[in-house]
This record gives sequence, structure tokens and C-alpha cells, in this order.
Amino acid sequence: MVDTPSGPDVGTCYPPGLLGVDDAVARLIALARRKAPDTEVVPLAAAGGRVLAEDVAAPMPVPPEANSAMDGIAFRHADLPLSGLLPMSQRIPAGVAPAPLEPGTAARIFTGAILPSGADTVAMQENCEFTATTVRLISAPEAGANVRPAGQDVAQGQAMLARGTRLTAAAVGLAAAAGLYQLKVFRPLRVAILCTGDELLEPGEPWRSGAIYNSNRPMLTHLLQGWGLEVIDLGKVADSRVATEAALLRAVDAGADVIVSTGGVSVGEEDHVRAAVAQAGQLDFWKVAIKPGKPVAVGEVRGVSFLGLPGNPQSVLVTGLLLARPFLLARQGQAAVLPVALPVPAAFSRRKGGDRREYLRVRFGTGVAGLELTPHPQQSSGALLSAVWADGLAMLEAGRAFEVATPLPFLPFSALLAP
Ligand code: AMP
Ligand code: MG
Repeated sequence: MVDTPSGPDVGTCYPPGLLGVDDAVARLIALARRKAPDTEVVPLAAAGGRVLAEDVAAPMPVPPEANSAMDGIAFRHADLPLSGLLPMSQRIPAGVAPAPLEPGTAARIFTGAILPSGADTVAMQENCEFTATTVRLISAPEAGANVRPAGQDVAQGQAMLARGTRLTAAAVGLAAAAGLYQLKVFRPLRVAILCTGDELLEPGEPWRSGAIYNSNRPMLTHLLQGWGLEVIDLGKVADSRVATEAALLRAVDAGADVIVSTGGVSVGEEDHVRAAVAQAGQLDFWKVAIKPGKPVAVGEVRGVSFLGLPGNPQSVLVTGLLLARPFLLARQGQAAVLPVALPVPAAFSRRKGGDRREYLRVRFGTGVAGLELTPHPQQSSGALLSAVWADGLAMLEAGRAFEVATPLPFLPFSALLAP
């Protein structure tokens, strides 16, 4: 997969100063690709879930030798007499190097056992009548049947795993099959998180009027960990420029590759993130045409990338999944970072579209007409229950009305929460 967003923002007119979501994502990915973390070599058992840092070709063919796909007999197809009767000359279980097949005979063979030289075909045992010394084929298979040739899966020297691959279970399984025992991967990206807000309380702190509990902190921590990233938790940051700047520098000292903040990024008097980043480093500020969301700050503090997300928990979740995720995964060195949206019919309609692309928390279910998407009634950017209830996000393009049964791009949380 390539870094081409699901569809360009062409044809959608956003109000002046608003950046389309796809354009924002493309810019974030381009920024992230300028740097990659260091690499390290890890044993295969520890490589699952990591991002491969080099292209890997198969050092040997998989499978290494031709072998049987069935329990049955191995023989040379051209030797098969009309009677179908062959003397048995050897027995080949899995794990054994067989002798060459005596011409005009059959070998008893089992799944995964090596085909003897001279044999080219396997007949499954259900089609065989055995005596103590012979076998008769009830029906003859085609020449070459039930044989897995050497290199059937991967040929020796074939490009097998590409740099930037997130190593799945299948990928480490394949690497093992080709005889590899360690892989070069990127070390996990270290991401510092800081949550701004004088109103924030930590779990267990007694509630007081004016305060709310900090929900972005555990939410962001869990998101980042789910993407295989290392979290440096800098906790809560007071609403002052001095405190924010100090927190940014603490993140730099702690060895962060990226700093992600929540809150304090809009234009209010109590929003100090932008000024602090501009003071300690450099800042780019975008208003992204996304709902929930909108203000996103992007920049750098002493060589450490900075991403400022909004404060509202639902905005943090949506911008985290749609903007921070591709940025962080690309920065981690991962090649394919964009989720694939599935078209699913809406169980609802819209008379009038908003001026930003909207992501609704929806449930994916089966209605009378088949699969359909149902939105949660509470879509406020402060509300999280809808996201607990939902299976994913439905994308509503800005300015676009639609009828019931119109297919909408659906992004399942399962895809967004995964790296
Ligand atoms: P801000 O952008 O800082 O003005 O925050 C926007 C809204 O999100 C305000 O209602 C904040 O109280 C709320 N908020 C900010 N940070 C958090 C957080 N960590 N947990 C819960 N709510 C938050
Ligand atoms: Mg705030």
C-alpha cells in the first residue's frame, strides 16, 4: 500500500483557511517520513508486531524440497500401468530423507514427507487399495497431483518481506520458514504525552467543583500502546506558557521522538500550547476541516516532532485515530499507514452536509436490507459513551446530503486501533 489518502479532497470546498483531512494526512505523512528511528536486530520470537527496517529476500526456498500434500503413495506418473497395480518399495514419513524411488514402484508417503527423486505424483490414500506389498489405484490422479514443489511458496532469493512491513504473525512465520532467526527492526518510537488543563484531575483524586477527570491521558496511552509505540507519560500540564514550555523541554530531555499534547491548542486566552511550541521550537498551525476536531498544531521542539491535538476527548479520539495514527506510524517507519474504508449503506439520511468532513460514531449491523450503519444519537465532541458503543466511524463528506441506503465509507475501530 502506498501513502495515497483514500480520496483527494478535490471537489469539496472548505471555508477559507481550513485544510482538507486528506491533505492534512498527506502533509503529516510527508513530515513523518523525513526521519526514522534507529534500528536493532531482534530474535524472531520478539519480532512480531515490530516494523521491519530492511528488505528481506528468502535465503532458501520455501518449502526447501518437493513434498507430499497428502497421506498416500508417491510414484512416477509415466510408470502407472493400466491395471493401476504397483509394488511398494519404501515408506517415507515426514522428517526423513528418502532413497530414490525404484522405477515402476510406489512409496508409501505422508503429508509433509519429502518426495523421493524419480517420483512426480502423489495419490491420496482414500484412492488406494493396499495389500502387504502392493497398492492399486482406484482412480489415477493427474501427473504432478498433490505435490508441493520446492519453492512453491517462496523461491530462493525472492523478495519476501519489505522494509516498513509491520511484522504480522504470518510474516514472522514466513521468515522462520525461510530459515531466518532474527530480523532488523526499528526500535519502538518514544512518544511523550502531555495533557494540558488546570481543570484536570487524575484518577483517585477527590472531585472538586470546577474540575473534571483527565480522560485523554489513559485514552491516548492506550491508543499509542496499541500501535506498538513506547509512551513517556508527562502527566498533566498547567495552563500557563511557562509550565507548557517546561513540559515540552522535559519531553525532549526524556528522549522522546515525538511529543503529543491535548488541549490548549485553540485561540483562547488559556490556550498556551502554540505559544510555548513557537517559543521552544517552531510551529505550524492548521485548522483541519474535520468534525469532531479542527485545531491541530504541528511542529518541532529541539529536533523532536510535536503534534498538538484538541482537548475534547472525542476530538482527541477522532484526530488521534485519523491524524496522529498515520503520522506516528509513518514516523515509526511503517510503510502502509492508511486504513481502508469499507463502503456500507447508511441506515440514516442527511438533508444538508456541514462545512467540515464529519466522522460519526456508528454501529455496524444487519438491517432488513442487509449490512447498514446506525449512528449514535449523541455525537458531541465532548462525549465518549458513543465511541464505547460504536464499532467505528462513518465518514460524511463536507457539504454532501445523502439518502438512506447510500454507501458511506466505514472505518472499523478494529482497523484504526491496530498499527
Ligand atoms: P481546550 O482545548 O483546552 O480548551 O479543551 C477543550 C475541552 O476539552 C474543554 O472542555 C476541556 O475541559 C476538555 N478537556 C481538555 N483536556 C481534557 C482531558 N485531558 N480530559 C478530559 N477533558 C479534557
Ligand atoms: Mg484547556
